Order: sequence, then structure tokens, then C-alpha cells
Amino acid sequence: MSDKPVLLVTGGSRGIGAAVCVLAAQKGWAVAVNYVSNQAAADAVVAEIRAAGGEAVAVRGDVGVAADIDAMFVAVDKHFGRIDGLVNNAGVIDLSQRVDEMSAERLERMMRVNVIGSILAAREAVRRMSTRHGGKGGAIVNISSMAAVIGSPSLYVDYAASKAAIDTFTVGLAREVATEGVRVNAVRPGIIDTDIHASGGEPDRAHRSASMIPMQRPGTAQEVADAIVYLLSSPASYITGAILNVSGGR
Ligand code: NAP
Repeated sequence: MSDKPVLLVTGGSRGIGAAVCVLAAQKGWAVAVNYVSNQAAADAVVAEIRAAGGEAVAVRGDVGVAADIDAMFVAVDKHFGRIDGLVNNAGVIDLSQRVDEMSAERLERMMRVNVIGSILAAREAVRRMSTRHGGKGGAIVNISSMAAVIGSPSLYVDYAASKAAIDTFTVGLAREVATEGVRVNAVRPGIIDTDIHASGGEPDRAHRSASMIPMQRPGTAQEVADAIVYLLSSPASYITGAILNVSGGR
């Protein structure tokens, strides 16, 4: 069993998730770096953590597939023998479309990955961390988006709705397990400079959007990771059910 507290970060191979993995390792967490297809990116995050003297392992799994989520937690059990934190970070966008153009397949994928994947992963974490199940407690941070508040018209209202579901899920689960040693919070990033915009067909979106952001610049993955790792930490011991905007004022 690891002496260190163990953190699983879904989508830990790139972007915000990778920044969380590296920062959490610096703060003393042993880290399971989940990825779905980019093994090289996950291996690079693991190598960076190990080179700095930390503990990390890459774990493949699609959060859009229930069996993969179960297997991912079993892999963490086997490798580390414990789990103390979960960051539900893996998430997808899609091409800009109006709702009257969207296919059922698109909507099903959006909700399966962003919503159901996060809920199932939280279920597995609670089954292991909650004192009700004999666990020692822990912390969950869900990654929402300012889209949940803005609605993202003509871009991806479906994505915005999936993140609004994450907000409500965060508040509900936080209250459900509040006496069981498990804190549950969310972070709402604004426009952050990562690969996600390229996957939505607009690689330069973060910088093109600077004028719409009160601070006149996109955020960095590091700035979001700072907030997430804080919410995981014991200085945040009285914070649960909170949703923290990390959005440059947007
Ligand atoms: P990103 O750069 O596109 O990275 C996505 C990460 O998620 C990768 O590690 C990817 O793994 C993984 N992933 C994607 N689908 C997955 C699946 N089905 N199962 C497991 N892992 C999966 O994304 P990001 O910008 O860092 O976004 C991270 C989170 O922040 C998302 O929930 C996103 O909605 C949210 N967010 C981002 C922004 C922004 O402006 N960037 C704003 C608000 C909210 P592979 O490397 O294997 O592909």
C-alpha cells in the first residue's frame, strides 16, 4: 500500500488534468494518470512525476464505458492499495452547432462521457472512501465549466447542459456524503488554453476569445490546477458543495 494519499485524475494525460497530476505529485499525492487513447502523453506525465521523485502510474480507460471505469478503479486498488482523491476531469466538446442541427449520437456521447462517466467514477470513489463503507474519507473535485452558466448558444448548448448537470451533481453528492468524510466540490474553468478547442474544430479559440474575458486573456491549465489541488487539500477541510469559478472574471 502507498504511504502517500492516492489521487486518480481522469483525463490526466493532457491539458488541465496533466497539470493537476504534476502539481498534486509535488504536493505529496501518488497519482493515477488516466487516459483514453494518448498513451504517450500519459507516459510523459508519469515520467515527469517520477523524475521529480514522485509516484505515478498510467491507467487506460474510457470514462464513457462503465466497465472501463470499474476496471480503472480496480487497477488503482491493485497498484496503490488505497484511494483518497478523485478529479473528474475527462470531458469532451464537439463541433460548434445549433441545437436544431444536433444528432442524437452527438448528444448521447456528450452526456455519456461528461455526465454519466463522472457520476460512475464518483460512485466508485465513494464506495472506497466513505466511512459508511469502511473507508477513511477523501475528496472529489468535478470539473464543470463557465458554459454551465453562460449556456454557450450557437457553440455547444449540449456541452453547457452537461456541465450544468455536473454542478447539480456536485451539490447533491456533497450533501449526501457530508457526514461520511468525503468532500465534493467543483471548479468552473472559463476559457483555458488547452488542446480541447482543437477537438472542437477551433484550435485558436482561447486566444481569439481574449477580448470577451474581463482579464483579457485565456487562463492556463496551471491556474486551474492550482484551484483543484487546493480543493483536494486539508486547508479546504470545511469546503464542500462549493463551485469555484476560475475564469478571469467571465
Ligand atoms: P483536453 O486538453 O482536450 O484533454 C482532455 C483529456 O481528457 C485528455 O487527457 C484525454 O485523454 C482525456 N479524455 C477525453 N475523453 C476521455 C474519455 N472518454 N475517457 C477518459 N479520458 C478522456 O481537455 P482540457 O481542456 O484539459 O479539459 C479538461 C476538463 O476541463 C474537461 O472536463 C473540460 O470540459 C473542462 N473545461 C475545459 C475548458 C477549456 O477551455 N479548456 C473550459 C471549461 C471546462 P487522451 O490524452 O488519451 O486523449
